[in-house]
Amino acid sequence: MGSLPNQKPENGFTGTTIKPLDPEEFRRQGHMVVDFLADYYKNVDKYPVRSQVEPGYLRKRLPESAPHEPEAIEEILKDVQNDIVPGITHWQSPNYYAYFPSSGSIAGFLGEMLSTGFNVVGFNWMSSPAATELESIVMDWLGKMLKLPSSFLFSGGGGGVLQGTTCEAILCTLVAARDQMLNKIGRDNIGKLIVYGSDQTHSALQKAAQIAGIEPNNFRAVQTTKATAFGLTPEALRATIESDVEAGLVPLFLCPTIGTTSSTAVDPLGPLCEVAKEYGMWVHVDAAYAGSACICPEYRHFLDGVENADSFSFNAHKWFLTTLDCCCLWVKNPSALVKALSTYPEYLRNKATDSNQVVDYKDWQITLSRRFRSLKLWLVLRSYGVANLRKFLRSHVQMAKNFEGLIGMDKRFEVVVPRNFATVCFRISPIEIGKNHNVSKEDATNEFNCKLLESINETGKIYMTHAVIGGVYVIRFCVGTTLTENRHVNLAWKTIQEHASALLSMS
Ligand SMILES: *Cc1c(COP(=O)(O)O)cnc(C)c1O
Repeated sequence: MGSLPNQKPENGFTGTTIKPLDPEEFRRQGHMVVDFLADYYKNVDKYPVRSQVEPGYLRKRLPESAPHEPEAIEEILKDVQNDIVPGITHWQSPNYYAYFPSSGSIAGFLGEMLSTGFNVVGFNWMSSPAATELESIVMDWLGKMLKLPSSFLFSGGGGGVLQGTTCEAILCTLVAARDQMLNKIGRDNIGKLIVYGSDQTHSALQKAAQIAGIEPNNFRAVQTTKATAFGLTPEALRATIESDVEAGLVPLFLCPTIGTTSSTAVDPLGPLCEVAKEYGMWVHVDAAYAGSACICPEYRHFLDGVENADSFSFNAHKWFLTTLDCCCLWVKNPSALVKALSTYPEYLRNKATDSNQVVDYKDWQITLSRRFRSLKLWLVLRSYGVANLRKFLRSHVQMAKNFEGLIGMDKRFEVVVPRNFATVCFRISPIEIGKNHNVSKEDATNEFNCKLLESINETGKIYMTHAVIGGVYVIRFCVGTTLTENRHVNLAWKTIQEHASALLSMS
């Protein structure tokens, strides 16, 4: 029997029926999604900021298995609106003040779109020269904006790379430091290596230490106190290091933070680097949130001393108008990274790599495959320019100052730690909390503030999150969403006051 010309091949997918990459269909459906998102941004302040669904909500709404036959984009978008949007916590809402921001922008979105559209896998230079070269150029641009010493730039023998997240940046630098040290003292001494942060350092450091094979007992979270606004002091660091050295252990890695996650505390880079350098440690500076602000001259002093660090990173996907994910990492000595992370299998061999004239970013990170992330940073830098980026950051700082001023006018509240950037840590002060004979005043105050925060977040009007700093439960008010204006901040404050009044009258 010969084949029948009109019969569809039974299992043969030719792509002709659903046209997964048909240019005209792409145009039609792409426009629909852009329209969908434009409407979303227009109405984003109308949704409850923190999603109000219960765990497992979506399984109840969606079918048990994937459709056998294709469905139309119109139908799918309807379900996005009806089923997905209710389960979204609206990070782009102007009333979002939780965690740290994920500040979106048209340029960041379009850059992401271009990157996704080209869909190249730029693991080495050859696999897409533009992806590698644009990344190196943009990282030099950004490094200059931050006034990083030239030793961090390609022109000065260092270099920058875009990682997905800070977690990866810390892990990669830690692994580089570990191998450099073990090559000196012998591979079997890994059990002696010590990693240092403070009790305010992001958990990313502990996770990196775990993955990098550092003994769990060899992770030091040096204690900070209110007296130094929860910054790590060189004295406390030195004392910890000295006792480790006395015990025959080997100081390996220090991770100071510019703008801690709980309270945006700043560790004094200069003095800390001095101590670390005495002991031959690698210093990685984590400025995930606050690094953005340092493109403004008035904040640059927070980075003083970075010239003595080995690596530095900040998240453009937090407060820099760039969509997730985009962590900017600079290292002084790229070859330390490359030695720890490179492989060169036969199937990736190529002339450019062999010529040693190119950067192969696969050797600067954990994974092989990598996205064309630099496009979005390039679009953000070009679309807004340094002047507007500074304006953007300063407007948030100004709104945070305004919020701080409002707190100052209501005696029931107090700011718990000094504000450094656009995040305010505050609470209802202990004076306001009634006597409860079963618990201490501090516990009662913490409990009250926790209740206050939950009662506010439940309404969906605004969303804030908390931290516990030195045993004190604080509510964090982080201004950083692109759409937030002063009127939103004023409204947020009114909401907070109303809930405080209601709860206080009940207690
Ligand atoms: C947000 C944050 C991190 C973690 O960032 P990821 O990109 O999610 O890994 C690390 N350190 C600090 C100080 C942060 O604020």
